[in-house]
Amino acid sequence: MRYGLLDAPALSRAAAPAHVLRLLGAGGAFSRRYGTTCAELRLPNGERWLIDCGRQAPDQIAAAGLRWHDITGQIITHVHGDHVFGLEDFAFTRYFTDTDDVPSVRSGGPRIKLVCHGAVRAEVWQTMAPSLRYVPDPAAPASGTLATYFDPVEAVGHEPARNNPWHHSERFELPGLRVVMRETVHVPGKPSTSVELALDDAGTIAWWSGDSTVDAALLTALEPRTTVFFHDCTFREYPGQVHGAFGALEQLPAAVRHKMVLMHHEDDLEQHRSRAEALGFRVALPGDCFDLARGLLLTGPSA
Ligand SMILES: [Zn+2]
Ligand SMILES: [Zn+2]
Repeated sequence: MRYGLLDAPALSRAAAPAHVLRLLGAGGAFSRRYGTTCAELRLPNGERWLIDCGRQAPDQIAAAGLRWHDITGQIITHVHGDHVFGLEDFAFTRYFTDTDDVPSVRSGGPRIKLVCHGAVRAEVWQTMAPSLRYVPDPAAPASGTLATYFDPVEAVGHEPARNNPWHHSERFELPGLRVVMRETVHVPGKPSTSVELALDDAGTIAWWSGDSTVDAALLTALEPRTTVFFHDCTFREYPGQVHGAFGALEQLPAAVRHKMVLMHHEDDLEQHRSRAEALGFRVALPGDCFDLARGLLLTGPSA
């Protein structure tokens, strides 16, 4: 099965894609070539959100022609530097800087909506508190909280704990955005979640692994109602694997592989690319832009 750029006449005849995802970074934690994880999600209501905000995100945002003030909200899968170390830049810029169209938070502008599992949220604040708690208020110099900068969205439902003390999944519903953040097996004992993004009212989703080992049973169960899977991938086998090992991904049913985009890969991607593509996987490069409803690559270096 081949996926490619939709030809221009087809695009102009088609309605504008409702959910569009652009990978600003497509590389793994230590990638120097493909950039750390950050994806721009454009919603049907016109809002722009980010999925994760890694250490290179401030430069990725600028290079993509975006401003932090263009972003309505932030989804965080888990707290590792390659997923969250751009958040301080995001928070401080929005807190202090006014633009022509969006006031700073301290001038009454909108805070950044934040969607993440409660267990992850606690760690987001743990990692940011040493800088963000200091607000320029002489009467209360260390009074900043997560809610000073962000508008944390509360879950509207959850599944009970399974293997860890926290909820197995939490569900969030906002106007224009409905997601389930489901725990993954990443680093043992660490809160880490995938994203199930609702695309319609019929249960159709686009799936984003965050960082996860391969859960073949889950992926296979989700496949009939999933348009596209974005899975972190490593071609390096090592004891105590914490990512989507290619050796496990290649065992997935063809129906899953053909909907899967490999991301969060290392800089040796090209050595393995033809093997992955022969099995029906697509490989993400920074700048690749997907129509999520159809699971199709629209534009970008891979088109
Ligand atoms: Zn990562
Ligand atoms: Zn991680």
